[in-house]
Amino acid sequence: MSKTFLAAGECMVEMAPTGQGTFSMGFAGDTLNTAWYARKCLPSDWNVGYCTAVGRDQVSEQMLDFLTQSGIDVGPVRRLDDRTVGLYMIQLKNGERSFAYWRSQAAARQLAADIDHLQTAVADAALIYFSGITLAILPERDRDTFFSALKAARARGAKTAFDPNLRPRLWETEDTMRACVTEAAGLCDFVMPSFEDELAHFGDPTADASAGRYLAAGADMVVVKNGPEEVICASRENREAFQPKPVANIVDTTAAGDSFNAAFLAEYLVSGNIATSVDAGARLAGTVIQNRGALVDCFEPA
Ligand code: ADP
Repeated sequence: MSKTFLAAGECMVEMAPTGQGTFSMGFAGDTLNTAWYARKCLPSDWNVGYCTAVGRDQVSEQMLDFLTQSGIDVGPVRRLDDRTVGLYMIQLKNGERSFAYWRSQAAARQLAADIDHLQTAVADAALIYFSGITLAILPERDRDTFFSALKAARARGAKTAFDPNLRPRLWETEDTMRACVTEAAGLCDFVMPSFEDELAHFGDPTADASAGRYLAAGADMVVVKNGPEEVICASRENREAFQPKPVANIVDTTAAGDSFNAAFLAEYLVSGNIATSVDAGARLAGTVIQNRGALVDCFEPA
């Protein structure tokens, strides 16, 4: 097994307004955010790869260039002749942001359609990271392919980590979302939900209830984030709570959970220590939310 952190999911083109009818292009996505921060957090002898699918057109090439320039290995990316990448546009009205999406035909939906490609992509990874959005965008039969690849990877000793990132609008039905997320949790070493989502879509009364539900589904460890509240880390044998340091000046909470997951997992892969992993996660997320945007370059040069 190699020192590879592999994230799987969808990276989208983001069009952000810059003025009257003008936009600037960027790239964004929950698992991409986590891969980007993992690259910053892991030592240089670790490889960070991204498993997705893109087209062969110019914007797909630009996305791959962006990933490569961020130090992320695009070797696991599938290339499709007849597709392109998904896109969303941010619009501002009276200071409020709204989002319009073009993603139903996105290439990323095919990331698990070729089982041989997927098996090769995950073959060597020490850790495979994915989210509820990764699963939501897959056709139903490809979710099973994805789960088989996870099982095979775990059988050879890889760790798996999953953020449920519950987004009902991406799923066929809320029941399907809950069933699929529960099945995925049962295949994971780390399930890393945000309590706000779990309360809204599973009706859990407390963060401990969310942890208990995912442990009952078969997760090895559940790390429940809860904004400024305690992070709960629970396994079948143990339960610990960690209080994140208060953050005075919150500017934009985008990617708080994604960056937490990256720093937590990077620290865990190196030290195997839960307390220092939560500390790393909370410190990075605390910095990210004091800055605008998802990808905040808040790292000192080594
Ligand atoms: P998500 O972005 O997935 O909704 P959360 O809001 O639960 O994630 O936040 C993830 C982590 O970010 C928290 O566990 C905490 O470490 C940090 N964080 C988020 N909001 C705050 C806050 N108001 N004060 C301090 N830390 C915060």
